[in-house]
Amino acid sequence: MDHFLYRDGVLYAEDIPVSEIAAKVGTPFYLYSSATLLRHFTLFDDALDGMPHLVCFAMKSASNQAILKLLADAGAGMDVVSGGEYMRAKAAGVPGDKIVFSGIGKTADEMRLALEGGIRQFNVESEPEMQVLSAVATQLGKTAPITVRVNPDVDAKTHAKIATGRKEDKFGIPIARARDVYALAASLPGLKVIGIDVHIGSQLTELAPFEAAYQKVAELTEQLRADGHEITRLDLGGGLGIPYTRSNEAPPLPTEYGALIKNTVGHLGCEIEIEPGRLISGNAGIMVSKVIYVKSGEGRDFLILDGAMNDLIRPAMYEAYHDIIPVIEPAPGVDQQPYDIVGPVCESGDTFAKQRDMPPLKADDLVAFRSAGAYGAVMSSEYNTRPLIPEVLVQGDQFAVIRPRPTFDEMINRDTIPEWL
Ligand SMILES: *Cc1c(COP(=O)(O)O)cnc(C)c1O
Repeated sequence: MDHFLYRDGVLYAEDIPVSEIAAKVGTPFYLYSSATLLRHFTLFDDALDGMPHLVCFAMKSASNQAILKLLADAGAGMDVVSGGEYMRAKAAGVPGDKIVFSGIGKTADEMRLALEGGIRQFNVESEPEMQVLSAVATQLGKTAPITVRVNPDVDAKTHAKIATGRKEDKFGIPIARARDVYALAASLPGLKVIGIDVHIGSQLTELAPFEAAYQKVAELTEQLRADGHEITRLDLGGGLGIPYTRSNEAPPLPTEYGALIKNTVGHLGCEIEIEPGRLISGNAGIMVSKVIYVKSGEGRDFLILDGAMNDLIRPAMYEAYHDIIPVIEPAPGVDQQPYDIVGPVCESGDTFAKQRDMPPLKADDLVAFRSAGAYGAVMSSEYNTRPLIPEVLVQGDQFAVIRPRPTFDEMINRDTIPEWL
Protein backbone atom coordinates (compact mmCIF):
# COMPACT_ATOMS: atom_id res chain seq x y z
CA MET A 1 0.00 0.00 0.00
CA ASP A 2 1.28 3.48 -0.76
CA HIS A 3 0.13 7.07 -0.89
CA PHE A 4 0.44 7.76 -4.64
CA LEU A 5 -3.13 7.60 -5.87
CA TYR A 6 -5.31 9.23 -8.50
CA ARG A 7 -7.79 11.76 -7.20
CA ASP A 8 -10.18 13.53 -9.54
CA GLY A 9 -8.17 12.24 -12.50
CA VAL A 10 -4.72 13.39 -11.42
CA LEU A 11 -1.95 11.63 -9.52
CA TYR A 12 -1.44 12.79 -5.95
CA ALA A 13 1.44 12.23 -3.56
CA GLU A 14 -0.41 12.21 -0.22
CA ASP A 15 -2.37 15.48 -0.44
CA ILE A 16 -0.48 17.24 -3.24
CA PRO A 17 -0.91 16.86 -7.00
CA VAL A 18 2.32 15.51 -8.47
CA SER A 19 2.06 17.98 -11.36
CA GLU A 20 2.20 20.87 -8.90
CA ILE A 21 5.51 19.62 -7.51
CA ALA A 22 6.82 19.01 -11.04
CA ALA A 23 6.00 22.60 -11.98
CA LYS A 24 8.02 23.91 -9.03
CA VAL A 25 10.96 21.47 -9.03
CA GLY A 26 11.31 20.57 -12.72
CA THR A 27 11.64 17.04 -14.05
CA PRO A 28 12.93 14.42 -13.58
CA PHE A 29 12.86 14.01 -9.81
CA TYR A 30 12.32 11.45 -7.06
CA LEU A 31 9.33 11.90 -4.81
CA TYR A 32 8.88 10.16 -1.45
CA SER A 33 5.86 9.83 0.79
CA SER A 34 6.48 10.19 4.52
CA ALA A 35 3.26 8.38 5.36
CA THR A 36 4.28 5.35 3.29
CA LEU A 37 7.79 5.23 4.78
CA LEU A 38 6.38 5.38 8.31
CA ARG A 39 3.64 2.89 7.57
CA HIS A 40 6.12 0.30 6.33
CA PHE A 41 8.51 0.83 9.23
CA THR A 42 5.65 0.49 11.70
CA LEU A 43 4.47 -2.76 10.07
CA PHE A 44 7.86 -4.33 10.80
CA ASP A 45 8.09 -2.82 14.26
CA ASP A 46 4.63 -4.14 15.15
CA ALA A 47 5.36 -7.55 13.61
CA LEU A 48 8.13 -8.06 16.18
CA ASP A 49 5.99 -6.89 19.07
CA GLY A 50 6.48 -9.00 22.17
CA MET A 51 10.16 -9.66 21.44
CA PRO A 52 12.95 -7.23 22.32
CA HIS A 53 13.91 -5.88 18.90
CA LEU A 54 15.31 -3.11 16.75
CA VAL A 55 14.33 -2.54 13.12
CA CYS A 56 17.48 -1.22 11.41
CA PHE A 57 16.65 0.45 8.11
CA ALA A 58 19.08 -0.70 5.38
CA MET A 59 19.97 2.81 4.33
CA LYS A 60 21.75 1.70 1.18
CA SER A 61 18.24 1.47 -0.32
CA ALA A 62 17.50 5.18 0.25
CA SER A 63 19.94 7.29 2.19
CA ASN A 64 18.75 10.88 2.10
CA GLN A 65 19.14 12.32 5.58
CA ALA A 66 15.53 13.54 5.64
CA ILE A 67 14.37 9.95 5.16
CA LEU A 68 16.80 8.72 7.82
CA LYS A 69 15.62 11.33 10.32
CA LEU A 70 11.96 10.57 9.64
CA LEU A 71 12.54 6.86 10.34
CA ALA A 72 14.95 7.38 13.24
CA ASP A 73 12.43 9.69 14.93
CA ALA A 74 9.93 6.82 14.69
CA GLY A 75 12.40 4.55 16.47
CA ALA A 76 14.39 2.96 13.64
CA GLY A 77 18.04 2.03 13.86
CA MET A 78 20.24 1.99 10.75
CA ASP A 79 22.13 -0.71 8.91
CA VAL A 80 25.17 0.86 7.23
CA VAL A 81 27.60 -0.69 4.75
CA SER A 82 30.30 1.97 4.48
CA GLY A 83 32.03 4.74 6.41
CA GLY A 84 30.10 7.24 4.31
CA GLU A 85 26.78 5.72 5.29
CA TYR A 86 27.88 5.69 8.93
CA MET A 87 28.70 9.43 8.76
CA ARG A 88 25.44 10.14 6.96
CA ALA A 89 23.42 8.34 9.64
CA LYS A 90 25.25 10.27 12.36
CA ALA A 91 24.67 13.54 10.48
CA ALA A 92 20.95 12.74 10.40
CA GLY A 93 21.03 12.42 14.19
CA VAL A 94 21.04 8.64 14.58
CA PRO A 95 22.93 7.68 17.76
CA GLY A 96 25.84 5.25 17.35
CA ASP A 97 24.23 2.65 19.58
CA LYS A 98 21.46 2.28 16.98
CA ILE A 99 23.81 1.79 14.03
CA VAL A 100 24.81 -1.66 12.81
CA PHE A 101 27.82 -1.94 10.47
CA SER A 102 27.50 -4.60 7.73
CA GLY A 103 29.61 -5.37 4.65
CA ILE A 104 32.45 -7.65 3.57
CA GLY A 105 35.11 -5.03 2.99
CA LYS A 106 35.24 -2.75 6.02
CA THR A 107 38.57 -0.93 6.10
CA ALA A 108 40.55 -0.12 9.25
CA ASP A 109 39.68 3.56 8.74
CA GLU A 110 35.97 2.76 8.63
CA MET A 111 36.26 0.64 11.77
CA ARG A 112 38.06 3.49 13.56
CA LEU A 113 35.36 5.94 12.52
CA ALA A 114 32.62 3.73 13.95
CA LEU A 115 34.48 2.81 17.14
CA GLU A 116 35.21 6.45 17.88
CA GLY A 117 31.70 7.65 17.01
CA GLY A 118 29.90 4.77 18.74
CA ILE A 119 28.47 1.63 17.20
CA ARG A 120 25.86 -0.93 18.16
CA GLN A 121 27.71 -3.82 16.54
CA PHE A 122 29.91 -4.87 13.65
CA ASN A 123 28.63 -7.76 11.57
CA VAL A 124 31.96 -9.41 10.78
CA GLU A 125 32.21 -11.39 7.56
CA SER A 126 35.65 -13.03 7.58
CA GLU A 127 38.59 -14.02 9.76
CA PRO A 128 40.95 -11.42 8.26
CA GLU A 129 38.35 -8.72 8.99
CA MET A 130 38.09 -10.02 12.55
CA GLN A 131 41.88 -9.76 13.01
CA VAL A 132 41.93 -6.18 11.75
CA LEU A 133 38.96 -5.15 13.90
CA SER A 134 40.65 -6.68 16.94
CA ALA A 135 43.83 -4.71 16.22
CA VAL A 136 42.00 -1.42 15.61
CA ALA A 137 39.84 -1.75 18.73
CA THR A 138 42.83 -2.67 20.90
CA GLN A 139 44.80 0.29 19.56
CA LEU A 140 41.93 2.63 20.49
CA GLY A 141 41.47 0.97 23.89
CA LYS A 142 37.89 0.02 22.93
CA THR A 143 35.85 -3.14 22.76
CA ALA A 144 34.03 -3.86 19.50
CA PRO A 145 30.72 -5.70 19.90
CA ILE A 146 30.45 -8.23 17.09
CA THR A 147 28.25 -10.79 15.43
CA VAL A 148 29.60 -13.08 12.73
CA ARG A 149 27.66 -13.15 9.50
CA VAL A 150 27.08 -16.76 8.62
CA ASN A 151 26.28 -18.03 5.17
CA PRO A 152 23.58 -20.67 5.62
CA ASP A 153 23.81 -22.00 2.04
CA VAL A 154 20.17 -21.27 1.28
CA ASP A 155 18.95 -20.29 -2.17
CA ALA A 156 16.86 -17.15 -1.78
CA LYS A 157 15.34 -17.77 -5.25
CA THR A 158 15.84 -14.19 -6.31
CA HIS A 159 17.80 -12.40 -9.07
CA ALA A 160 21.38 -13.76 -9.16
CA LYS A 161 22.85 -10.29 -8.60
CA ILE A 162 21.05 -9.90 -5.26
CA ALA A 163 21.26 -13.45 -3.87
CA THR A 164 23.80 -13.52 -1.05
CA GLY A 165 23.22 -16.68 0.99
CA ARG A 166 24.39 -19.47 -1.30
CA LYS A 167 27.77 -21.03 -0.71
CA GLU A 168 29.14 -19.59 -3.97
CA ASP A 169 28.24 -16.04 -2.89
CA LYS A 170 30.94 -13.78 -1.44
CA PHE A 171 29.13 -13.07 1.82
CA GLY A 172 29.58 -14.40 5.34
CA ILE A 173 31.31 -17.43 6.75
CA PRO A 174 30.12 -20.93 5.80
CA ILE A 175 27.88 -21.97 8.64
CA ALA A 176 29.75 -25.27 8.94
CA ARG A 177 32.87 -23.32 9.94
CA ALA A 178 31.08 -20.99 12.32
CA ARG A 179 32.10 -22.69 15.57
CA ASP A 180 35.82 -22.41 14.69
CA VAL A 181 35.42 -18.78 13.75
CA TYR A 182 33.57 -17.97 16.99
CA ALA A 183 36.39 -19.68 18.91
CA LEU A 184 38.86 -17.40 17.13
CA ALA A 185 36.71 -14.36 17.94
CA ALA A 186 36.61 -15.26 21.62
CA SER A 187 40.40 -15.54 21.70
CA LEU A 188 41.09 -12.13 20.15
CA PRO A 189 41.48 -9.00 22.31
CA GLY A 190 39.20 -6.02 21.76
CA LEU A 191 36.22 -8.04 20.53
CA LYS A 192 33.07 -9.01 22.35
CA VAL A 193 30.92 -11.69 20.71
CA ILE A 194 27.26 -10.83 21.20
CA GLY A 195 25.36 -12.66 18.50
CA ILE A 196 24.87 -14.07 15.03
CA ASP A 197 24.05 -12.31 11.75
CA VAL A 198 22.52 -13.64 8.54
CA HIS A 199 21.25 -11.98 5.34
CA ILE A 200 20.40 -14.21 2.40
CA GLY A 201 19.45 -11.77 -0.33
CA SER A 202 17.07 -9.13 -1.57
CA GLN A 203 13.61 -9.07 -3.17
CA LEU A 204 12.61 -12.45 -1.68
CA THR A 205 9.03 -13.28 -2.53
CA GLU A 206 8.65 -16.43 -0.43
CA LEU A 207 9.12 -17.13 3.25
CA ALA A 208 10.62 -20.62 2.87
CA PRO A 209 14.24 -19.47 2.35
CA PHE A 210 14.01 -17.25 5.45
CA GLU A 211 12.63 -20.17 7.41
CA ALA A 212 15.45 -22.48 6.32
CA ALA A 213 18.07 -19.86 7.19
CA TYR A 214 16.58 -18.94 10.57
CA GLN A 215 16.27 -22.58 11.60
CA LYS A 216 19.98 -22.98 10.92
CA VAL A 217 20.68 -19.85 12.97
CA ALA A 218 18.61 -21.26 15.85
CA GLU A 219 20.60 -24.50 15.82
CA LEU A 220 23.85 -22.59 15.68
CA THR A 221 22.78 -20.42 18.63
CA GLU A 222 22.40 -23.51 20.78
CA GLN A 223 25.73 -24.97 19.64
CA LEU A 224 27.58 -21.74 20.30
CA ARG A 225 26.00 -21.38 23.72
CA ALA A 226 27.09 -24.93 24.51
CA ASP A 227 30.60 -23.86 23.44
CA GLY A 228 30.44 -21.11 26.05
CA HIS A 229 29.61 -18.04 23.92
CA GLU A 230 27.05 -15.53 25.11
CA ILE A 231 24.62 -15.19 22.21
CA THR A 232 22.13 -12.49 23.13
CA ARG A 233 21.34 -10.88 19.78
CA LEU A 234 20.29 -12.25 16.40
CA ASP A 235 20.50 -10.01 13.34
CA LEU A 236 18.26 -11.66 10.76
CA GLY A 237 19.04 -9.34 7.83
CA GLY A 238 16.67 -7.78 5.34
CA GLY A 239 15.42 -8.89 1.98
CA LEU A 240 11.64 -9.13 2.10
CA GLY A 241 10.41 -8.34 -1.41
CA ILE A 242 7.78 -5.93 -2.69
CA PRO A 243 5.24 -6.17 -5.52
CA TYR A 244 6.64 -4.29 -8.54
CA THR A 245 3.52 -4.89 -10.60
CA ARG A 246 0.00 -4.87 -9.39
CA SER A 247 -0.81 -7.99 -11.32
CA ASN A 248 1.78 -10.35 -9.84
CA GLU A 249 1.42 -12.27 -6.63
CA ALA A 250 1.82 -10.28 -3.44
CA PRO A 251 4.98 -11.20 -1.49
CA PRO A 252 4.56 -12.22 2.16
CA LEU A 253 3.54 -9.49 4.58
CA PRO A 254 5.75 -8.22 7.41
CA THR A 255 3.22 -9.73 9.86
CA GLU A 256 3.77 -13.20 8.38
CA TYR A 257 7.51 -12.60 8.41
CA GLY A 258 7.35 -11.54 12.07
CA ALA A 259 5.39 -14.67 12.95
CA LEU A 260 8.03 -16.78 11.20
CA ILE A 261 10.75 -15.10 13.25
CA LYS A 262 8.88 -15.85 16.47
CA ASN A 263 8.41 -19.47 15.44
CA THR A 264 11.99 -20.12 14.42
CA VAL A 265 14.06 -18.14 16.93
CA GLY A 266 11.58 -16.74 19.47
CA HIS A 267 12.30 -19.44 22.05
CA LEU A 268 15.98 -18.43 22.31
CA GLY A 269 15.32 -15.26 24.30
CA CYS A 270 17.56 -13.16 22.04
CA GLU A 271 17.11 -9.56 21.09
CA ILE A 272 16.09 -9.52 17.42
CA GLU A 273 17.36 -7.15 14.76
CA ILE A 274 16.12 -7.01 11.20
CA GLU A 275 17.50 -4.90 8.36
CA PRO A 276 14.74 -4.23 5.84
CA GLY A 277 15.53 -1.71 3.10
CA ARG A 278 13.42 -2.21 0.00
CA LEU A 279 10.17 -3.01 1.80
CA ILE A 280 10.35 0.26 3.73
CA SER A 281 11.51 2.59 0.94
CA GLY A 282 10.59 0.87 -2.35
CA ASN A 283 6.93 1.70 -2.70
CA ALA A 284 7.40 4.93 -0.76
CA GLY A 285 9.04 6.60 -3.76
CA ILE A 286 8.29 7.35 -7.39
CA MET A 287 10.39 8.88 -10.14
CA VAL A 288 8.58 11.57 -12.09
CA SER A 289 9.71 12.18 -15.65
CA LYS A 290 8.49 14.09 -18.69
CA VAL A 291 8.03 12.97 -22.27
CA ILE A 292 10.47 14.91 -24.48
CA TYR A 293 9.52 13.37 -27.79
CA VAL A 294 7.32 10.67 -29.19
CA LYS A 295 9.28 9.15 -32.05
CA SER A 296 7.84 6.80 -34.62
CA GLY A 297 10.29 4.06 -35.52
CA GLU A 298 10.20 1.04 -37.78
CA GLY A 299 7.07 -0.69 -36.56
CA ARG A 300 7.31 0.78 -33.09
CA ASP A 301 6.86 4.06 -31.26
CA PHE A 302 9.37 5.35 -28.75
CA LEU A 303 8.53 7.47 -25.75
CA ILE A 304 11.70 9.44 -25.12
CA LEU A 305 11.73 10.65 -21.52
CA ASP A 306 13.91 13.20 -19.74
CA GLY A 307 14.75 10.53 -17.11
CA ALA A 308 17.40 7.98 -18.03
CA MET A 309 19.36 4.96 -16.87
CA ASN A 310 21.72 7.17 -14.88
CA ASP A 311 18.72 8.33 -12.82
CA LEU A 312 17.13 4.89 -12.37
CA ILE A 313 19.43 2.04 -13.28
CA ARG A 314 17.36 -0.92 -12.08
CA PRO A 315 15.84 -1.83 -15.48
CA ALA A 316 19.27 -1.76 -17.18
CA MET A 317 21.09 -3.51 -14.35
CA TYR A 318 18.61 -6.11 -13.09
CA GLU A 319 16.11 -6.27 -15.93
CA ALA A 320 13.78 -4.84 -13.29
CA TYR A 321 10.17 -4.05 -14.08
CA HIS A 322 8.65 -0.76 -12.95
CA ASP A 323 5.06 0.22 -13.45
CA ILE A 324 5.04 3.47 -15.45
CA ILE A 325 1.83 5.44 -15.16
CA PRO A 326 0.67 8.75 -16.62
CA VAL A 327 0.28 11.55 -14.10
CA ILE A 328 -3.05 12.45 -15.71
CA GLU A 329 -5.32 9.45 -15.23
CA PRO A 330 -6.33 7.96 -18.58
CA ALA A 331 -10.04 8.12 -19.35
CA PRO A 332 -11.74 4.80 -18.65
CA GLY A 333 -11.71 2.49 -21.67
CA VAL A 334 -9.09 4.53 -23.56
CA ASP A 335 -7.23 2.50 -26.20
CA GLN A 336 -3.75 1.58 -25.03
CA GLN A 337 -0.85 1.34 -27.44
CA PRO A 338 2.58 -0.24 -27.08
CA TYR A 339 5.63 2.00 -26.65
CA ASP A 340 9.31 1.42 -26.10
CA ILE A 341 10.01 3.74 -23.17
CA VAL A 342 13.57 5.05 -23.25
CA GLY A 343 15.87 7.74 -21.89
CA PRO A 344 18.19 10.07 -23.81
CA VAL A 345 21.47 8.37 -22.83
CA CYS A 346 23.62 7.13 -25.69
CA GLU A 347 23.25 3.40 -25.21
CA SER A 348 20.55 0.94 -26.10
CA GLY A 349 20.64 -0.24 -22.49
CA ASP A 350 18.92 3.02 -21.62
CA THR A 351 15.53 1.39 -22.10
CA PHE A 352 13.00 1.29 -19.27
CA ALA A 353 10.42 -0.90 -21.00
CA LYS A 354 9.83 -2.49 -24.38
CA GLN A 355 6.43 -2.64 -26.03
CA ARG A 356 4.70 -1.47 -22.85
CA ASP A 357 1.00 -0.75 -23.27
CA MET A 358 0.26 2.84 -22.33
CA PRO A 359 -2.51 5.30 -23.07
CA PRO A 360 -1.53 7.66 -25.91
CA LEU A 361 1.04 10.18 -24.69
CA LYS A 362 2.54 13.30 -26.21
CA ALA A 363 5.45 15.64 -25.59
CA ASP A 364 5.40 17.36 -22.16
CA ASP A 365 3.14 14.73 -20.57
CA LEU A 366 4.34 13.54 -17.17
CA VAL A 367 4.77 9.90 -16.17
CA ALA A 368 5.62 8.31 -12.83
CA PHE A 369 7.76 5.23 -12.27
CA ARG A 370 6.24 3.40 -9.33
CA SER A 371 8.25 1.51 -6.69
CA ALA A 372 11.34 3.63 -7.34
CA GLY A 373 12.06 4.59 -3.73
CA ALA A 374 14.59 1.81 -3.11
CA TYR A 375 17.85 1.48 -5.05
CA GLY A 376 16.80 4.44 -7.19
CA ALA A 377 18.32 7.77 -6.18
CA VAL A 378 21.15 6.04 -4.30
CA MET A 379 22.34 4.28 -7.45
CA SER A 380 22.08 7.30 -9.71
CA SER A 381 25.10 8.83 -11.40
CA GLU A 382 26.04 11.78 -13.56
CA TYR A 383 26.71 9.64 -16.65
CA ASN A 384 26.49 11.78 -19.78
CA THR A 385 27.08 14.78 -17.44
CA ARG A 386 23.45 14.68 -16.50
CA PRO A 387 22.83 16.33 -13.11
CA LEU A 388 21.77 14.07 -10.21
CA ILE A 389 18.03 14.53 -10.09
CA PRO A 390 16.40 16.17 -7.05
CA GLU A 391 14.76 14.26 -4.23
CA VAL A 392 11.53 15.62 -2.78
CA LEU A 393 9.71 14.55 0.38
CA VAL A 394 5.98 14.96 0.86
CA GLN A 395 4.16 15.00 4.17
CA GLY A 396 0.43 15.62 3.97
CA ASP A 397 -0.02 18.84 2.03
CA GLN A 398 3.58 20.04 2.33
CA PHE A 399 6.66 19.14 0.37
CA ALA A 400 10.34 19.97 0.51
CA VAL A 401 13.28 19.47 -1.82
CA ILE A 402 15.58 17.26 0.26
CA ARG A 403 18.39 17.17 -2.32
CA PRO A 404 18.56 19.92 -4.92
CA ARG A 405 19.57 19.44 -8.52
CA PRO A 406 23.20 20.54 -8.89
CA THR A 407 23.97 23.28 -11.40
CA PHE A 408 26.19 22.58 -14.39
CA ASP A 409 28.89 24.71 -12.74
CA GLU A 410 28.77 22.66 -9.55
CA MET A 411 29.23 19.47 -11.52
CA ILE A 412 31.88 20.73 -13.90
CA ASN A 413 33.94 22.56 -11.29
CA ARG A 414 34.65 19.34 -9.42
CA ASP A 415 37.20 18.47 -12.11
CA THR A 416 40.64 19.99 -11.88
CA ILE A 417 42.91 20.33 -14.88
CA PRO A 418 46.59 19.79 -13.94
CA GLU A 419 48.83 22.79 -14.43
CA TRP A 420 51.00 20.93 -16.96
CA LEU A 421 48.15 20.89 -19.45
C1 LIG B 1 21.13 -4.92 1.12
C2 LIG B 1 21.13 -5.41 2.50
C3 LIG B 1 19.97 -5.33 3.28
C4 LIG B 1 18.65 -4.81 2.76
O1 LIG B 1 18.09 -5.58 1.78
P1 LIG B 1 16.60 -5.23 1.26
O2 LIG B 1 16.35 -6.23 0.21
O3 LIG B 1 16.63 -3.85 0.73
O4 LIG B 1 15.68 -5.37 2.41
C5 LIG B 1 20.04 -5.74 4.59
N1 LIG B 1 21.19 -6.22 5.12
C6 LIG B 1 22.33 -6.32 4.39
C7 LIG B 1 23.55 -6.86 5.03
C8 LIG B 1 22.33 -5.93 3.07
O5 LIG B 1 23.45 -6.03 2.34
